[in-house]
Amino acid sequence: MIRFDRVVKKFGDNVVLRDLSFEVAPGEFVTLIGPSGSGKTTILRLLMTLERVNGGTIQVGDEYLSHMERGGKLVTADEKHLRKVRRRIGMVFQQFNLFPNMKVLQNLTEAPIRVLGKSRDEAEERARSLLEMVGLTDKIDAHPSQLSGGQQQRVAIARALAMEPDVLLLDEVTSALDPELVAGVLAVLRDIAETTDITFLCVTHEMQFAKDVSDRVMMFDKGQVIEDATPEKLFTEPDHERTREFLHAVL
Ligand code: ATP
Repeated sequence: MIRFDRVVKKFGDNVVLRDLSFEVAPGEFVTLIGPSGSGKTTILRLLMTLERVNGGTIQVGDEYLSHMERGGKLVTADEKHLRKVRRRIGMVFQQFNLFPNMKVLQNLTEAPIRVLGKSRDEAEERARSLLEMVGLTDKIDAHPSQLSGGQQQRVAIARALAMEPDVLLLDEVTSALDPELVAGVLAVLRDIAETTDITFLCVTHEMQFAKDVSDRVMMFDKGQVIEDATPEKLFTEPDHERTREFLHAVL
């Protein structure tokens, strides 16, 4: 579960998130759409604790990244709690960021061994089943540079899953890929969404994918959610003029 309650994020004088509130239920797949610069990536970065919030409550499961005390004082979590939250969250970015000097197998086992304290056997067994899930069993001994962009992204997805996250954040995971590789990556994500109870928060410009896979789509503009609906509703009969304009421009 993810909860934002009246979250404020500023960069200098630039107020990027204004009293932003939304919730994502456990196991739900929620997609954020909206114009460039509207603050979508900032939401993911706050959840990954890569940015500090200026106000409001951010909750992940039963942990708080920040909350407001009576009287309006902002309290942010200490390093120990931040680490706990970080462990529950996986993130897949536009750039795959695999460890270039490690083979695929080691990319998948390194963090589970070091961070989760798994045995090598256990980590390797899990890595093999994840590679099967993303259709890359035959690449287990390859180095990232020997893989296509789409294959690297599927390894990055498997690597995120190897940490057994409760929440998976997806930030434009297909936008650095050649068009013919996009479908394979999206098919893998759809499969994971359908077969696991992971909570997804996804930023994408792939509207067809958002339509197919999301339980809910949130249209975001100027730091606020202006429309929050099922994909059927939002893509076919949006309530908001701004949503209509945006969809018209991107579809
Ligand atoms: P896009 O679809 O282009 O990725 P976005 O909706 O994800 O856009 P963000 O990347 O969240 O938008 O950026 C929102 C705003 O915050 C932008 O105006 C951006 O310039 C600003 N911003 C983001 N990160 C920083 C930073 N580290 N320092 C200063 N300003 C920043």
